[in-house]
Amino acid sequence: MIIAIDGPAGSGKSTVAKRLAKRLGISYLDTGAMYRAVAFLALKKGIDLEDEEAVTELAKSASIDVKYDNVSIYSDIIINEEIVTESIRSPEVDAAVSIVSRIQGVRERLVEVQRSFSSMDAVVEGRDIGTVVFPDSKVKIYLTASEEIRADRRIIDLRKKGHRIEKDEVESSIRKRDSIDSSRAASPLAVADDAIEIDTTKMSIDEVVEKISLLVEDVI
Ligand code: C5P
Repeated sequence: MIIAIDGPAGSGKSTVAKRLAKRLGISYLDTGAMYRAVAFLALKKGIDLEDEEAVTELAKSASIDVKYDNVSIYSDIIINEEIVTESIRSPEVDAAVSIVSRIQGVRERLVEVQRSFSSMDAVVEGRDIGTVVFPDSKVKIYLTASEEIRADRRIIDLRKKGHRIEKDEVESSIRKRDSIDSSRAASPLAVADDAIEIDTTKMSIDEVVEKISLLVEDVI
């Protein structure tokens, strides 16, 4: 059973998906971390992010692993043997990731890695999970929230990790990312026809998790 959770940056996907996975006793897969890992590696190697051929070659030749612990719902993302779990959460990677994730070759490679998890019971979060990666998912959720709340959540995440960043910078970074993610030709961020939309602006995490759990109970 795959539960697909899609939505824009800061909509609450990761927090909700992890809590839901824990509550249901199933795995959790963060597909955004894979795109971030490719962006991180491209930056590290000094590859021009606009050079589609070079970035595709990098994504196709890299070894990408996810190591997860179902009990703590903690997962590590490893690219070319380097654990990059923390390094991929920086403002630099935020600014680079949407540029590499619009490249068709990168998506092909990462969707292949993501589908290798299809035999598991998992909550999978991303931008195209319900539309492209797992279109047969039993439950599809599309999370949204106001731009202001999404920026606030992102600032809290970044500051917790020690990044000093102003609210207007975060707002502009999120806006840019959402715009590229929604307008790209390859698997844009979109609401699947059969997805249930939940606006999390005024909801607590527990309320969102409760609501999705009830939807899951209805289908199993
Ligand atoms: O979820 P997160 O914000 O970490 O995702 C980072 C970026 O990865 C997104 O802004 C998007 O460009 C890309 N992404 C994607 N498809 C997914 C998951 C993430 O294009 N399924």
